[in-house]
Amino acid sequence: TKDDVKGFFIRNAFVILTVAAVIIGIILGFALRPYKMSYREVKFFSFPGELLMRMLQMLVLPLLVSSLITGMASLDSRASGKMGMRAVVYYTTTTVIAVFIGIVMVLIIHPGKGSKDEFTKPQQIEQVSAADAFLDLIRYAPVGILFLISGKIVEMDDITSMGGQLGMYTVTVISGLLIHAIFVLPTLYFIITRKNPYVFIAGLLQALITALGTSSSSATLPITFKCLEENNKVDKRVTRFVLPVGATINMDGTALYEALAAIFIAQVNDFDLNFGQILTISITATAASIGAAGIPQAGLVTMVIVLTSVGLPTDDITLIIAVDWFLDRLRTVTNVLGDSIGAGIVEHLSRHELQKKDPEVGNSVVEE
Ligand code: ASP
Repeated sequence: TKDDVKGFFIRNAFVILTVAAVIIGIILGFALRPYKMSYREVKFFSFPGELLMRMLQMLVLPLLVSSLITGMASLDSRASGKMGMRAVVYYTTTTVIAVFIGIVMVLIIHPGKGSKDEFTKPQQIEQVSAADAFLDLIRYAPVGILFLISGKIVEMDDITSMGGQLGMYTVTVISGLLIHAIFVLPTLYFIITRKNPYVFIAGLLQALITALGTSSSSATLPITFKCLEENNKVDKRVTRFVLPVGATINMDGTALYEALAAIFIAQVNDFDLNFGQILTISITATAASIGAAGIPQAGLVTMVIVLTSVGLPTDDITLIIAVDWFLDRLRTVTNVLGDSIGAGIVEHLSRHELQKKDPEVGNSVVEE
């Protein structure tokens, strides 16, 4: 009925606005590209987006500290030990699977065929400017996302001028991330919880879009909490305990990306990797993803570890900078998804301990 439709729109107003912001952001970005704005103009134009970034980042540290404290305080040490163990097993397993997918994809598709001269001149890594932050965040997020996305589209390099290798590389990364995010993680969730993973993912939409807009899993954290607790009704004792750690060390998208990118750079240099070197890349890519902070393009920086471990030229990171702003967004979405599905799985596995402490599972004992 009409009331149902109205009710649906009211309940989902925020998500609808955010999706609309992404679409408008893309259209606006492409519409403004012909005007060839100067660097300063682009910075001014992107300011509302930067503001959102800053506001979210401002929330993160207090949120991390307070949630870890309340998370620990609401569980006894045995329960938290078990829950921590489950989280670590989940993080390790999914990261290893992600690295494996990255390696298989880049070896099969082999995007690095051809000469190194095809590459266009690299772009500078972006600098974020400081901004004042006194706006109401929840009104504000869709607006910020609109400008973050359109601002980036306005300033990006011409896609058509990029070499074929970089295009193939982009396709390879996207395919790997998609396999992991749309197939592997949901399957794992289904096998363990027997619940529909896509319903769970639908509840996370807001967080995933924020990850896409901000390229930062830390900055997305406040929204990830909100989606998991309010939409997916994950127990707060679980989210507060596992999410802060997950957002910092569990980065499936980054791990997949680093392994894939390192092998791509080897391919571009006609550098034949033996099995031992590929194994080294998997181990260092895992370590580099754990070490990477949840901020834009952190994965690109920690890639130095992976390249150095097998003697590949670290300067060649510049070859992939031109597309990194985009791939960074996609791996951040995968990272946030991995953390969130992890929270859902850990909650399911810990249901007995959670019940013991509080008979009404899902009804948190954590004070608001
Ligand atoms: N931007 C990513 C994140 O925040 C990290 C990365 O650069 O891979 O999750």
